[in-house]
Amino acid sequence: MKIAVVGTGYVGLVTGTCFAETGNDVTCVDIDKGKVEKLSNGQITIYEPGLEKLFLRNVKEERLRFTTSLEDGIKDAEIIFLALPTPPGEDGSADLKYILGVADHLGKILKDYKVIVDKSTVPVGTAEKVHAAVSKNYKGEFDVVSNPEFLREGVAVDDFMKPDRVVIGASSERARKLMGDLYAPFVRSGNPVIYMDVRSAELTKYAANSFLATKISFMNEVAQLCERLGADVDMVRRGIGSDDRIGKRFLFPGIGYGGSCFPKDVQALVKSSNEVDYDFRILNAVMDVNERQKLHLLPKIRKYFKDDLKGKKFAIWGLAFKPNTDDIREAPALYMIDELLKAGATVSVFDPEAMANVKGVVGDKIQYADNQYDCLEGADALIIATEWNEFRTPNFLKIVTALKNKVIFDGRNLFEGDAVKELGFYYESVGRATAI
Ligand code: NAD
Repeated sequence: MKIAVVGTGYVGLVTGTCFAETGNDVTCVDIDKGKVEKLSNGQITIYEPGLEKLFLRNVKEERLRFTTSLEDGIKDAEIIFLALPTPPGEDGSADLKYILGVADHLGKILKDYKVIVDKSTVPVGTAEKVHAAVSKNYKGEFDVVSNPEFLREGVAVDDFMKPDRVVIGASSERARKLMGDLYAPFVRSGNPVIYMDVRSAELTKYAANSFLATKISFMNEVAQLCERLGADVDMVRRGIGSDDRIGKRFLFPGIGYGGSCFPKDVQALVKSSNEVDYDFRILNAVMDVNERQKLHLLPKIRKYFKDDLKGKKFAIWGLAFKPNTDDIREAPALYMIDELLKAGATVSVFDPEAMANVKGVVGDKIQYADNQYDCLEGADALIIATEWNEFRTPNFLKIVTALKNKVIFDGRNLFEGDAVKELGFYYESVGRATAI
């Protein structure tokens, strides 16, 4: 099949590459000239495990190409995926200007039947808006389908190649058939393609992300309680996770969820609910809890340093919003850096993949270390903000040598509290009553 993917970011590049990998001819379109130039020259633009190999193979086989021209990109395509940003607008609702801008443009250049697919996360009713925007100038036949994406950054290739399920919201048999054929190679092991109406498909994505965010905030509340009651959240987590109805995954407390999806999607669903006079009370609490949790370590740090952070130096391990990605959108580490700088502290940081992105946003207000141990040099404490595997079993001797004080504030519960304390560290984590 001939496919166009409009928007070549985290979702668009993975989508385009994986469709090319199953033999389709894919053209990815992006307005960012620099990005298109790099990709056309075989240079990958994001860090995503396993993606580069597939990307290079498909570029070489000429099944994957890149252009800045929408017209050129879609001219032969049967299916056009929109993998465009849907950032929060000022009022928290999803801003559809990228989607509707491209839909409007498509209306001016379409010449024959196409399936236009909303791959981006978009509120209920967006497909109808896309339909209307295209129809303004194009009177021929076309369908708009909702096919939300459930990939997780860090394991995006696996998630895309072997999805738990594919959701397709379509109102026409023709579009449903084309989408089914396209996805057939990805669901050979029997995972379902779930067909539904367009509105349900649009809501499914928001419901999924909001439910996952709720799980995280719930566990963060349990962690708060553990600290106050002298219980250990790791034990509680294991105790409840072994119940099939609850499940083991997504029960890890920490310093809040971040990333480009959960914060904006929860907010957008609350906004959508308000628009139909429904007060989605749980989600308001989920957001509140997360706001507090992002800075959960700060009062502990302040208490330890007797409320005087001026002139203190903090080393931060981990900047990406989660491990195995270079994505720093809404990363808790950035909020932490901001607060520490405001308090007059200095900060040095290390992340295996996200340093360049942070430099682009924070600039030279902080120090960027070459490795995790250089980062600690002369610091008054280590703060752990992302659970990269390489931080899990560090060389504690090197930590002791480099740090000025043996103090660790661990926002991701990487270490066994007792073991670290035996090494002489002052150690605080999340929900483990370590300070009691
Ligand atoms: P992104 O910011 O990484 O990529 C968006 C791309 O679109 C950028 O490269 C940008 O230059 C390009 N773009 C903007 N305007 C354009 C235009 N007019 N024409 C062509 N290209 C244009 O965003 P993302 O993380 O890939 O997310 C895209 C959508 O997918 C969002 O709705 C998001 O909520 C959803 N989503 C993201 C993830 C994820 O893990 N990142 C997972 C599932 C769903």
